[in-house]
Amino acid sequence: MKSLNIIFLGRSGSGKGTQAELLMKKFVLVNIDTGDILRKLARRKDKFGRTVLKTISHGKLVPIWLVIYCWFNQLLKIPSKKGIIMEGSPRQLEEAKILEEIFSWLGRENLKVVYLRTSTKEVTQRLLLRRICSKCGRGFSLNFTPNLKECSYCKGKLIRRSDDYPRAIKNRMLFFQKKILPVINYFRKKKIVIEVNGEGSVEEIHKRILKKLL
Ligand code: AMP
Repeated sequence: MKSLNIIFLGRSGSGKGTQAELLMKKFVLVNIDTGDILRKLARRKDKFGRTVLKTISHGKLVPIWLVIYCWFNQLLKIPSKKGIIMEGSPRQLEEAKILEEIFSWLGRENLKVVYLRTSTKEVTQRLLLRRICSKCGRGFSLNFTPNLKECSYCKGKLIRRSDDYPRAIKNRMLFFQKKILPVINYFRKKKIVIEVNGEGSVEEIHKRILKKLL
């Protein structure tokens, strides 16, 4: 059987991470989270690390060569029989076309694009209330746990992501319109996009995705 390869697209804060994790468990997929890989690179104490940090803190896209390096480095380690999930990438048309070619070279032809549709207002609110664990990276919402100061899994300190501040959020919303919508439209023409309403409970959205995916 051909492996299932899913690209998850939607605005920042649309719940891509949460929904990707649920699908990952259900279909035993490997997650390639470009943002996460970049945040790890941004911890390097050299010029490169500082440049990555500066770029992602402003909500700007890193150069295509770096994105391709992040993907390819991971993809080569994953057997082609194993399905993958990519969250929040590709972020521009050029990346989409290169990724398609990489997938084809790796024999990953069974590609589905899940687009989680959410309003700017809803996701801005979510991002302003989001905190992540500085140790394990898990996300929490102050909306549900207003006084939480440490991670309920590993006791790590909860911090605000450097790009979860109003200016960076605004930039990320503009990027979505300018860069990611054309990617979604590109894949739409190939008839591989599954569009799902991303507002509602986690479980509801998960069910909506499964219904359209299977
Ligand atoms: P995310 O965790 O997906 O919100 O990504 C965090 C940051 O990493 C983004 O704001 C960008 O600066 C950068 N980034 C993530 N994925 C990509 C990509 N495919 N292309 C360029 N930059 C990216």
